[in-house]
Amino acid sequence: MTTPDEARRALEAIYARVEARAADISGSHDWWPCRRGCDHCCRHLAAPLPITQLEWRYLEEGLQQLPPETLAEIRERVDALSRQEARPYTCPLLDRKTGACGVYAHRPLSCRSYGFAATRDGGLFCHFILDLVGKHGDADIVWANQDALEDAVARPGGPTRPLFEWFAELKRREP
Ligand code: SF4
Ligand code: SF4
Repeated sequence: MTTPDEARRALEAIYARVEARAADISGSHDWWPCRRGCDHCCRHLAAPLPITQLEWRYLEEGLQQLPPETLAEIRERVDALSRQEARPYTCPLLDRKTGACGVYAHRPLSCRSYGFAATRDGGLFCHFILDLVGKHGDADIVWANQDALEDAVARPGGPTRPLFEWFAELKRREP
């Protein structure tokens, strides 16, 4: 049986592998578009971020480091998101003024790998990247395997739930 410490180390190892792959791809292609402030992906989520329990515990550490007023704003946006039927969604963790992730160091796998990983059916997701790959070609890019990464994160990760359900669970735990 996997201990919590082992699960945590496994998650950090996956995050480190994804970061290394992303740095390799973006660092070796000066046309690569991902950068701080490019928030189109965070503003066009198909669903409220589905996150494993292990990833949520990690993300919670990032939330705890935020100023109280920022966390209160995020919670208001999460409440609104839980009632929103229209799509796409804007991530409630996005700093809308700067276009930066409010919990960047603690963001989940799907945000770390987005744009740098491909699925078995070849989806590359971000249309900015698709357009540039169409122009420059991707023959020398070693994409991360998104399916394998998701399997690896899910294995020690506990149940997967949408972000707003984890926030509701957090509220229930509070004194
Ligand atoms: S995945 Fe696309 S939208 Fe997101 S940061 Fe990269 S280029 Fe920008
Ligand atoms: S957690 Fe951060 S990187 Fe992921 S969608 Fe939200 S704002 Fe964007």
